[in-house]
Amino acid sequence: VKGFSGQKVAVLGLGRSGLTTARALRAGNAEPVCWDDNPAARAAAEAEGFTCCDLGRHGAFDDVATLIVSPGIPHLYPEPNPVVAAALEAGVPVDNDIGLFFRSFAGPEWDNLDTPPRVVSVTGSNGKSTTAALIHHILTEAGREAQLAGNIGRGVLDIDPGGNGSVVVLELSSYQTELARSLTPDVAVFTNLSPDHLDRHGGLGGYFAAKRRLFAEGGPDRAVIGVDEDEGAFLAGQLAEAPTDDRVIRISVARKLTGPGWQVFARKGFLSEYRKGRQAGSIDLREIKGLPGAHNHQNACAAYATCRALGLAPRIIQDALHSYPGLPHRSQIIAEADGVTYVNDSKATNVDSAVKALNAFKKVRWICGGLEKEGGLSALNSASEHVLKAYVIGREAAGFAMQLQADTLVCTTMAEAVEQAMNDAQSGETILLAPAAASFDQYDNFEQRGEDFAEQVRKRL
Ligand code: ADP
Repeated sequence: VKGFSGQKVAVLGLGRSGLTTARALRAGNAEPVCWDDNPAARAAAEAEGFTCCDLGRHGAFDDVATLIVSPGIPHLYPEPNPVVAAALEAGVPVDNDIGLFFRSFAGPEWDNLDTPPRVVSVTGSNGKSTTAALIHHILTEAGREAQLAGNIGRGVLDIDPGGNGSVVVLELSSYQTELARSLTPDVAVFTNLSPDHLDRHGGLGGYFAAKRRLFAEGGPDRAVIGVDEDEGAFLAGQLAEAPTDDRVIRISVARKLTGPGWQVFARKGFLSEYRKGRQAGSIDLREIKGLPGAHNHQNACAAYATCRALGLAPRIIQDALHSYPGLPHRSQIIAEADGVTYVNDSKATNVDSAVKALNAFKKVRWICGGLEKEGGLSALNSASEHVLKAYVIGREAAGFAMQLQADTLVCTTMAEAVEQAMNDAQSGETILLAPAAASFDQYDNFEQRGEDFAEQVRKRL
């Protein structure tokens, strides 16, 4: 990190991103002053030679140039963080690693390159990781140098942005976009919006506001925007200067878009690109194994549009889509035996993503439940026709099951749910883990939950 040589920079939160930030600051001759409420995290930082001191103490921000906050730390909602509040009170700017990345990713050494590295950012409620991984996959297959960073892949301050023509693909959560002081991607993608993390943002309006910061005035050269929700449609409309403006590429999986601008949509398994009223490309998505379901067709549209914005030809994108292997824990087929398909979508941690997963399959024996999020479960019932039976896990399994319209069985543990679902399953059916809930009541994270599911299945096959 440049620009802080000889200056003190406070780092709050010493998880992966905090430690990476501290190292990058030190490499740029700054003097990081670190803090984490957890003594073990402090010990890890001290073992690397970093100075830890309580940023909550009086005068902690004297001589501090800026405060860098980890994305895991709620800074304003539901309660203002006292360290962040003290920094603001002392007039110290508050930023995060993403802001530092964009600040240092500019300047003469980039501008003097023939084709400076470009940054793509992907945000939205669901499909960020899939879309970012897909863009990265397509670029790599097309022979472009590309790196994946942010929420997926490496920490942003851990990468070398590369040389001529390279692309950095960043997955950014609302926690990250909310606080970054500098957000200047070349192409910004907004996949979709549904309620999630509302407690951290003070409601849906705050959540949307955090995401749309990527599209602020003077923002990206190109914006790829999902317009199937009102918020996306509004954002696209606001960014476009005229109906024919192709700074915005609109994407949809709900309707045909054939207006005078630039747009990509998927209908009945076919992706189409229209530009200035003419069809510019089309791809049959139905046979692509790594991208099952309409929700993945939305991700394919977003990745296609981004790669078109970066100058790739439709044919090259089509070939690369076919070789996309998929990501673990996202509609991932983990086994097929006796006509039963086993799908791990442990990443379906909210209601919308679980509905999408259910709609991607028919005749589903559905393993769901866990730590319920705000907003209720009633939207799950829109996909009930796909569900033969729900096997409910989690500490609050009985309460969760009561809210479902499907035939339910309260199982509590993954082992029991898998056991029961496998006993009941007939050829032609799918056993799907799509919890519609967070995992923290029973697991460390959604990956561990997905691995447990896979393990329980494997044991019984
Ligand atoms: P994110 O990084 O935004 O959490 P992922 O690609 O990891 O997104 O997918 C998260 C969950 O949402 C998975 O359960 C996945 O099946 C589902 N999903 C993926 N893409 C979409 C989409 N475009 N719309 C709704 N749900 C999606």
